Amino acid sequence: MSAQAQMRAMLDQLMGTSRDEHVWLPQISNLECVGFYVAGDTTRQRIKFSDDRVCKSHLLNCCPHDVLSGTRMDLGECLKVHDLALRADYEIASKDQDFFFELDAMDHLQSFIADCDRRTEVAKKRLAETQEEISAEVAAKAERVHELNEEIGKLLAKVEQLGADGNVEESQKVMDEVEKARVKKREAEEVYRNSMPASSFQQQKLRVCEVCSAYLGLHDNDRRLADHFGGKLHLGFIEIREKLEELRRIVADKQEKRNQERLKRREEREREEREKLRRSRSHSKHTKRYISLQTRNAISDASLLQAGIFCICLALLI
Ligand SMILES: [Zn+2]
Ligand SMILES: [Zn+2]
Repeated sequence: MSAQAQMRAMLDQLMGTSRDEHVWLPQISNLECVGFYVAGDTTRQRIKFSDDRVCKSHLLNCCPHDVLSGTRMDLGECLKVHDLALRADYEIASKDQDFFFELDAMDHLQSFIADCDRRTEVAKKRLAETQEEISAEVAAKAERVHELNEEIGKLLAKVEQLGADGNVEESQKVMDEVEKARVKKREAEEVYRNSMPASSFQQQKLRVCEVCSAYLGLHDNDRRLADHFGGKLHLGFIEIREKLEELRRIVADKQEKRNQERLKRREEREREEREKLRRSRSHSKHTKRYISLQTRNAISDASLLQAGIFCICLALLI
């Protein structure tokens, strides 16, 4: 990345798209680069982070196109828009509103990992077809060597990382674990070697890495093992897989919360409706009682009237 591009990325991360609205400051034009970036990028396409064209995985910092960039499995440019300024906008806006982009990112990562796992299965099948067939007993012995290779590779990668961080004491402790694993590996190799003719043992036995689908050799040396298990590709896949698990958890939690809220709203609605019904029933009961009372009064009035008329008629007759 050029110095200019780095500066642009840094300002995007800090200010989001709002920096596009900033005006040109000629007084610092002697610092041409700074002046340009403070002025903002007016040529930039202004779309919102919520736009369908924006990569939601990039907003959540887990797009495989970013994570695996520069590795043997570099995926090239993502089909959707990647923009650090939009990520900054999203991070600010998501403090007040839940956009639920985790669901989009989860779908994206899920299909990416499913593709990778399919590739692993194909590679395994190909190995099974091309590698000399060995009995289940011998295969188990080879598997033990592979497991120890993996352990050594991971530990060596850890040693390198601790060394790079300047943590000498801790790195020495891990190195002791490496030594123990090496002893176990030598024993496991011996057991494996004794289970077959020397010519067969010399043949490279491969295995497919379950994490990144790369091929691992049974006779790989420490350097190769450390390069693989501490390499950007393998670590990138670990990062993507861990992120996918995290997204699954977040999505499940949010969905559960939404369901609970929906249920609560429904219960409230039902309670309100019941209350309304009860009120309208009690109202109609009062009305009915009132009507019956009125009717009764009217009847008694009519009876009195009838009696009165009868008395008058009787008096006239007499
Ligand atoms: Zn992307
Ligand atoms: Zn791997």
